[in-house]
Amino acid sequence: MTVPGGSVQLKTAKAFDPPLINPNYLNHDFDNAAVVTAMRDAFKFVASPEFNSLVGSPFENLVTPNSTDGELLTYARNVSSTVNHGCCTCAMSPWGATSGVLDPDLRIKKVEGVRVVDASVFPRIPGFFIAGAVYMVAEKAADMILEDAGAE
Ligand SMILES: Cc1cc2nc3c(=O)[nH]c(=O)nc-3n(C[C@H](O)[C@H](O)[C@H](O)COP(=O)(O)OP(=O)(O)OC[C@H]3O[C@@H](n4cnc5c(N)ncnc54)[C@H](O)[C@@H]3O)c2cc1C
Repeated sequence: MTVPGGSVQLKTAKAFDPPLINPNYLNHDFDNAAVVTAMRDAFKFVASPEFNSLVGSPFENLVTPNSTDGELLTYARNVSSTVNHGCCTCAMSPWGATSGVLDPDLRIKKVEGVRVVDASVFPRIPGFFIAGAVYMVAEKAADMILEDAGAE
């Protein structure tokens, strides 16, 4: 299954103008089905008798268990956001690839003397908290930089 990623594009030719960032959330059939299923499960969960005394009021009336999948998805699209794990905006790709920003040694393609070492280099969003992967990239980068410098 191919999962489409988001995109980051230059808005203008001025380096300090903010870029156009499109995370492309909820734009894949699997993601859409997963979020709708999760919402229906949540409705069932809070409607169970065990939670009668704990649930003060229903979800916002904007959606109900009787809402269509399309209505649930529209609601999810309007209220969803994500935080904390931005990555992949400066992705590595294989040697010679015309896609991606960096070669596998973390150097910017067609640019001399600049490496990128952070969460932006991941080619794909990992399915886990990403700080550990940032540490791995940093360790590998340190080794490559030392090797280039001829260090033992
Ligand atoms: C609130 C929060 C909670 C998180 N919780 C977790 C978690 O529980 N587990 C997990 O795995 N991940 C977690 N993350 C994600 C993780 O912290 C980040 O993915 C990771 O730190 C990214 O590393 P980075 O090196 O790409 O960027 P950063 O850690 O953001 O490092 C960028 C560095 O560059 C510096 N900098 C920026 N601009 C300049 C400049 N112009 N000149 C010089 N320096 C500059 C900044 O000061 C900063 O030190 C969390 C993130 C947040 C915000």
